[in-house]
Amino acid sequence: MVGRVLSDHKTVERDRTTKTYTLAGYDLLSTEQKNELINLCKKRLEAFMEARGEAIYDHRRVSVGYISGTLKYEVLKRARFRCELCGISADEKALEPDHILPRNHGGTDDLSNLQALCYSCNAMKRDRDDTDFRAIRESYNYRESGCVFSEIGSERILAQNELAYAITDAYPVSPFHTLIVTKRHVATFFALGQAEVNACTALINNQKNRIQAEDDSVDGFNIGMNSGASAGQTVDHCHIHLIPRRTGDVDDPRGGIRHTMPGKGYYQAA
Ligand SMILES: [Zn+2]
Ligand SMILES: [Zn+2]
Repeated sequence: MVGRVLSDHKTVERDRTTKTYTLAGYDLLSTEQKNELINLCKKRLEAFMEARGEAIYDHRRVSVGYISGTLKYEVLKRARFRCELCGISADEKALEPDHILPRNHGGTDDLSNLQALCYSCNAMKRDRDDTDFRAIRESYNYRESGCVFSEIGSERILAQNELAYAITDAYPVSPFHTLIVTKRHVATFFALGQAEVNACTALINNQKNRIQAEDDSVDGFNIGMNSGASAGQTVDHCHIHLIPRRTGDVDDPRGGIRHTMPGKGYYQAA
């Protein structure tokens, strides 16, 4: 209906085969002008939804994964209004919440399964062909038999999201020493995709809050990874140590993780 009105006014042209509408003169616009237009459309849509309520999207909620305005705001706020893939600011390009694991593949509407992407990154993600997508999705499910972190018992899991777990370290160096472990069997942090980095970061924050809620003597943390045998890695499955620290737990804490090199930790003159 709207399409016909706009077509009659020559604002848009309809392609009969693809059943899509193209804005007249769109090709002549600069990137800035396109961004401005998209932002204006989004603002108008938001104002409309504000006025009518989100029920107007009820009919497509399941099929296209409509995300409520409140949840959308939470996703953008957590991303600090920057695209979580390329880093561009929301002021320059419109950001939209995106399902990390798509709904039709079992992904949920939980904040942990959402990320803020600019429309370019989002479009790029969509445009990848099916084969590519399937390979990426399946790679998230890759586990290696015999690996202690690929075969974590459910009783050890403190918290999880789509792509990572939090567990208690089996040999804690301090009380509440926690590990953030990717679900995918992948050797090191350097091989993670951005969604996995975000999933780990979300759990680091989540566990930091849990630890401090359970133990108010915790007033500092060391966050660290051993990547490669020379750096001390013994399990070849990416995991991040979250080590709670307490005032007075060692004589002189200055230097922190610098002490991985014995004797090199204290760089300040005594
Ligand atoms: Zn982007
Ligand atoms: Zn593994």
